[in-house]
Amino acid sequence: MPILFAFTWQAIVDFLVLTTAIYWLLKWTRQTRVLRILVGLGGLVILGHVVSWLRLPVTAWLLQVTVIGGVILLVMVYYPDIRHALTHLDFLDRWLLPRRREPASVNAAISEAAFALASQHLGALVVVAGRDSMRSYLTGGVSLQADPSAELLIALFQKTSPLHDGAAIVEDGRITYAGALLPLTFREDLPNEYGTRHRAALGLAERCDASVVAVSEERSEVSLTSTGRVRRAKDSNELSTWLAEGANRPSGFSRRHLRMILFGNFRIKIAALAVAISISLFGGFAGSSVRTFLAPVEFVGVPGGLEVCQVSANTVSVQVRAATWLFDTLSDHQLVARFDLTNMSEGLHSLEIEADTLSLPPGFSLDGTTPSVLRFRLTRKQLARGERPQ
Ligand code: ATP
Ligand code: MG
Repeated sequence: MPILFAFTWQAIVDFLVLTTAIYWLLKWTRQTRVLRILVGLGGLVILGHVVSWLRLPVTAWLLQVTVIGGVILLVMVYYPDIRHALTHLDFLDRWLLPRRREPASVNAAISEAAFALASQHLGALVVVAGRDSMRSYLTGGVSLQADPSAELLIALFQKTSPLHDGAAIVEDGRITYAGALLPLTFREDLPNEYGTRHRAALGLAERCDASVVAVSEERSEVSLTSTGRVRRAKDSNELSTWLAEGANRPSGFSRRHLRMILFGNFRIKIAALAVAISISLFGGFAGSSVRTFLAPVEFVGVPGGLEVCQVSANTVSVQVRAATWLFDTLSDHQLVARFDLTNMSEGLHSLEIEADTLSLPPGFSLDGTTPSVLRFRLTRKQLARGERPQ
């Protein structure tokens, strides 16, 4: 039966996990150039299957080696992205612990400075740190320990200032660095007017939970980039409010948050759902096979003082039906014919061997067993010398 149509709780959990995994993969690959390489590797794997089917062992081996080499190369080249993806698995931590707060006066000073610089047609980048460490993402910069006043920030980004290139970093209510270089984003779906300054803002915000204020020299615009999202602020009050929101713990039950969870990245979610449904349907329609397994007989819940004897068979030959590819996930020793003898009394018993007896994983159905009935006798245990009855 296709995994989609077997409405057991396991099938539903499997489908949700599959959809979520595809969603994260699509979301991640959209931000990097990794998608093309993954598609290329997927193509090689399919080609490998075709080549093995044509019985060309040397070509198949060569393709396998290329795929393994490609995966190693992918991990090496995209090591920073993989590390970023893994460090962001601590989602419980992110939801439960409060984020770092910058005082309102600091947010106000940054906002005031940003709009003053925009009106002077001067570019600027100001990073407001979150809880994640950013150290490994920053290059260069001059260490400072200064109060972030609007005047100081405006002075830093004047063309004549030696620190106007790069970003100023604000952490714990202080400007800790100026002139720092940020990593650039790999995204290719950005508007043409995004130059290196805006690509640097996105690059850092994709990698950690910092918020980055970018002032455009060319367009005199001020934007805030956080968690891969860019918003253009219309005035310093709006920017200040956004900075304060970014610094607060996200309230998990606010309507805005719920809307983000349900409808954020909507197109990627629909694409992930479509891919997951296709995989599930493909699993069902790609032809089903029947395979025979030998399952050992096991008795559980044998009542105290009784023992099992005269068992008609020690193993059961089981014919299982499933999509051909699903059999690769089922190993021989996973199948056990398990009989629950709880509350059974002394005497001769016959039990039917059913799908439940074998606890088949979702996607597998039982075609038949040999034998179809198991007979055994429950007798009182012979006490060994010195043993006390239970
Ligand atoms: P604008 O709208 O202001 O023109 P832009 O997005 O078009 O910005 P550029 O015109 O390329 O970007 O801006 C160049 C400036 O951006 C540099 O002078 C430097 O100050 C800053 N910048 C460029 N790359 C980085 C980086 N990796 N990290 C921090 N700042 C950077
Ligand atoms: Mg530019």
